[in-house]
Order: sequence, then structure tokens, then C-alpha cells
Amino acid sequence: MTKTLSFKDNFARLIALPTVSSTDPALDQSNKGIIDFLSSGLADLGFVVEQMEVPGRPGKFNLIACLGKGSGGLVLSGHTDTVPCDPDKWRQDPFRLTEKDNRYFGLGASDMKCFFPIAMEVIKQMDTGRLQQPVYMLATADEESTMSGARALAESGRTLGRFALIGEPTGLKPIYMHKGIIMESIVVSGEAGHSSNPSLGKNAIEGMHKVIKTLLEWRDELQRKYKNDVFEVPFPTLNFGSIRGGDNPNRICAQCELQIDLRFLPDISIEDIRSELRQIIQTALTGSGMQVETSSVFGGIPPLQTSADSEIIRLAEKLSGQTAGAVAFGTEAPYLNAMGMETVILGPGDIDQAHSPDEYLLIDRIQPMMKILSGLIGHLCLKENRNVNAVN
Ligand SMILES: [Zn+2]
Repeated sequence: MTKTLSFKDNFARLIALPTVSSTDPALDQSNKGIIDFLSSGLADLGFVVEQMEVPGRPGKFNLIACLGKGSGGLVLSGHTDTVPCDPDKWRQDPFRLTEKDNRYFGLGASDMKCFFPIAMEVIKQMDTGRLQQPVYMLATADEESTMSGARALAESGRTLGRFALIGEPTGLKPIYMHKGIIMESIVVSGEAGHSSNPSLGKNAIEGMHKVIKTLLEWRDELQRKYKNDVFEVPFPTLNFGSIRGGDNPNRICAQCELQIDLRFLPDISIEDIRSELRQIIQTALTGSGMQVETSSVFGGIPPLQTSADSEIIRLAEKLSGQTAGAVAFGTEAPYLNAMGMETVILGPGDIDQAHSPDEYLLIDRIQPMMKILSGLIGHLCLKENRNVNAVN
């Protein structure tokens, strides 16, 4: 990406660089190509650029680029990876930017490769000599799979800006809340034996039945206790996603595994909900002589709650003309908030487009997104505008 490349050329280059991230090693790809491309383009625009290899994830990098000096400032953040795709289901090449019907098609067009060239255009058109607080560009790895990029940043203990915007697909609506997500595996171990005499074993399916009954009661309790009408589904959800156990009708089942997905409101932390879940499960089998072990399918996504009164949320509402709300998907925002930033999620794509064949970005969204970004930079990073009342 250079100053001489147009928006469309930059966008096309990003789409053409495959950066699938997946927990399936056969599909997982390095994101170094995009990180190098963005590094050179941002350096051309005057940014001081740093690449950070994600510990334990060879070939995966975050990019931290800073323009201007001082503390505070605004971080413009996006993830470089996409989900895997099945090209046979696409009507055009997913790795070639295709302009058609007032849309740009391509894998990641909406979620969220479009964000980088849009932000670059805004910077290109800005008088950067007027910056009183820095503007950062952050490009992360593995958002679609493990969030290892954002997690590594948060664990590095460094501080970036005071505010952040993540350009995930929200249809230009500012988002300040999402639920947290954990996925857990629960394994009940009993004892095998001949089916003709129950005393010869301990049936793990019957043990799991007790666990499920306890979980259903706990789910009711959670849904009574926590409610927030900002969310479309205004209460915590617990889904029984898969169950496996036993081998023969005439054998007492020795082991049964259940996998669940739990989505919870921002009132509770990921650690607290997980430890409450584990305690509940243990009590279900007390005195049964059976063992139960719980492990996490993945690290989980913390819930997000940026204050609705935060300066960046109020500014984003004003600039977009939309009231801030909540989304049903998880993002990297909780990690940025943990680094001391107040984060809004706002981007030009649509979540309905994300992760689907023939993913596209509506071209009409590009100019409004540029206006929002330049408005935010103007108010948060240019001294003469450092007064939120100016937009109220
Ligand atoms: Zn995304």
C-alpha cells in the first residue's frame, strides 16, 4: 500500500492476499503478507511501524503503527484474518476484488479488510501536521479463530491510545456492548459393566442426565437474574451443542461428554461465570461415585461494556446519526478496553454478509465511514477540537 495506490488498488491487494485463520491446522494461514503490505503503506504515510509476532503462533503477527506524538489519542483497529471459504459456493473469485451492482465482492470485503484502505484514505487526506494526539493503526491476527493476536497485545501490558474504534461490520451503527462467550466440555466418568446388573457399574449417561437437569435449573436462574433489553436476546443463553457416550445397549456406559455454549451479559466476568458453572456441575454428581471434569473448548471471549457516556460513544452516535447498541457477536474490543482504551465498534460492512459466500461491501458505505473516521480524529486528536461539547 503506497500513497500512489488508489483506494481500490489497496483494497484489491488486501483481498488478493489470503489470510484464513482457523483452529483446523490444515486451513490456518499466516497473515504476514498483509502485515508487510500494511507496514510499508503506513510507513509511507509517516507512521512509525512495529510488527509483533504472536507468542506461540509462528507466522502470525500484529501490526502497531503510530502517527504523531504524545499520550492518549485514537486507535483504529481491525483484524487481518478471514474465516475459511468454499470457492465453489461463490459466483466470483473470493480472492479477486469484483465491483458489481454498487458492491465490492471478495472474501473479507465486509469483515473486515475494507477498513484498512478506508482508514488510509482518511489519513492521506488529513493535514497530519495538526495532530496534537497520536493516531494509531492496529492490525491483528487470529480474530476469527482464537483471538490470540488481541490477547497477546493485552498480555504485553503496553498502553496505546485512550480511545479505540474497531471497524467490524455494524452497518455504521456504533456498538458499545456485546455478550461474553464460553464453550465448555463436560466429561462424566462412571464404570462399565454388564447391562443385566446395574450394580456392576456406574452409568455415565445417567450421571450426565443429572448434570443436564442441574444446568437447566441454573440456566433458568441466570435468565431470571440477568436481563438487558439493549440485546436482541436480552438474557444469558446456554446451548447444549453435542453429546456423546457409550458404545453398546447391553453395556453400562462408562463415559459421556457434553459440549455447551454459554453467552452471558456484561454484568459478570468470564472467570466468575466459568467458576460458577464448574461448581454447579460438581454438585450435580455429589455422592454418585462418578467423576466429572470440565475443560474449555477455547479460551472464551469476554463481554464488552464500554460506558454509554464515553466520549467516543457520544461522538460516534453524533457522527453516524445512530444510537449506540449491542451486537450478538464477540469482538476484540474487551481486550482493548482491558488495555485502558474506551472502545467503540463501528464499521461499514454488514454482519449478514460476513462469513458468507459472495461477501460484499456496499460502495455507498465508504464515504460515510470516511466522514465518521475523520470526524473522530478531528475531535479526539486535533487540539483545537478537543472539546466534545463542540458536537453536542
Ligand atoms: Zn470480523
